[in-house]
Amino acid sequence: MDLAFTPEEQAFRDEVRTWVLANLPEDIANKVRNDLHLTRDDMQRWAKILGKKGWLGYGWPKEFGGPGWSAVQKHLFEEECALAGTPRIVPFGPVMVAPVIMAYGSPEQQKRFLPGIASGEVWWSQGYSEPGSGSDLASLKTRAERVGNKYIVNGQKTWTTLGQYGDWMFNLVRTSTEGKPQTGISFLLLDMKSPGVTVRPIKLLDGGHEVNEVFFDNVEVPADQLIGEENKGWTYAKLLLSHERTNIADVNRAKRELERLKRIAKAEGVWDDQRFRDQIALLEVDVIALEMLVLRVLSAMKSGKNPLEIAGLLKIKGSEIQQRYAELMMLAAGPYSLPYIQEAMEAGYQGDFPGDVLGNAPLAATYFNMRKTTIYGGSNEVQRNIVAQTVLG
Ligand SMILES: Cc1cc2nc3c(=O)[nH]c(=O)nc-3n(C[C@H](O)[C@H](O)[C@H](O)COP(=O)(O)OP(=O)(O)OC[C@H]3O[C@@H](n4cnc5c(N)ncnc54)[C@H](O)[C@@H]3O)c2cc1C
Repeated sequence: MDLAFTPEEQAFRDEVRTWVLANLPEDIANKVRNDLHLTRDDMQRWAKILGKKGWLGYGWPKEFGGPGWSAVQKHLFEEECALAGTPRIVPFGPVMVAPVIMAYGSPEQQKRFLPGIASGEVWWSQGYSEPGSGSDLASLKTRAERVGNKYIVNGQKTWTTLGQYGDWMFNLVRTSTEGKPQTGISFLLLDMKSPGVTVRPIKLLDGGHEVNEVFFDNVEVPADQLIGEENKGWTYAKLLLSHERTNIADVNRAKRELERLKRIAKAEGVWDDQRFRDQIALLEVDVIALEMLVLRVLSAMKSGKNPLEIAGLLKIKGSEIQQRYAELMMLAAGPYSLPYIQEAMEAGYQGDFPGDVLGNAPLAATYFNMRKTTIYGGSNEVQRNIVAQTVLG
């Protein structure tokens, strides 16, 4: 196993770094580095800049308009983006549904949907979870009934991240109640502007509007928006979940946030406290261990293996690390992070601070927001069950 990067890979990293630093708008980078609220426009502005360069679908093969990068190149791209402070790519289009459309969609569907995802023009949402069907996803009840050349969809999705911005939504729907629950599920693409779709906000603990409930009331969906075969959606859904879980681990952001934690600890004087530094050191060891795990996965991919079964393991460790750095930042800031001020998440609230540490007021909100990471993408408890069965045997 060779974990070192080749000279060509290093040169690739330099090329990406130079391009990202030259093209990332400073106002967006400043918000990301200080964990401030990103608007739809911020996220789409960056997505479109990447799209124009042909890098929004950075994981895509050339035949579908992607750069055709190796697993290592993808990793280096992600790392350079995270270290520079780019917004995370909203994954639902380019990272989640696109690989499903490439693998199981018809040529017409590929031609129709992939260009809008690659350019950043079309915003996708994920319609998997329902009230009562989260961990036990296969029990989902949203019904799609075939009538002529349409499906009539009725039911409800929940926790739809950024669904208030969604143009399109990929959905798991029930098309049969025969046999095992998994065998009656289909994968349907739905235009969120269709009559009968209602999106309602769910307010989160941190005060933000990040997730939604989505209701379907006799929504008509043309049958040519079904991906693959009817009742085979569960197979397609699982491919997407492994991409989602690997994406959540986000070791590169953890490296950037670790440095931010150190800056806050120094600014607040707790860096001199040996016990606090021990906590940071323990976190750093875990971040390095997670990075090693990611590099091992990349090394295995280079030699033709597909270790996607450990996606759950990456998700568990990555999400726990995200919660720990958010908690340590809040502790480092002490009482200054305690007042809950929603406006503090907006740029400019605390004036123009020099350097990176804009102020501590958003830290409590970030801490609360990070509670989600061990739940979404499949809860960590359930991931542990999966890892126990598939990795440990
Ligand atoms: C911020 C946020 C954003 C999200 N975004 C989206 C989105 O965009 N689209 C989407 O479709 N979904 C989304 N989700 C939903 C997410 O995937 C589910 O919340 C998750 O799968 C857990 O399901 P649940 O909330 O129904 O919890 P439940 O399944 O009810 O679980 C409750 C608790 O029981 C535990 N548990 C359940 N079963 C087992 C078991 N077999 N063994 C051990 N413990 C178990 C769980 O770990 C959890 O602690 C989001 C969730 C959050 C919090």
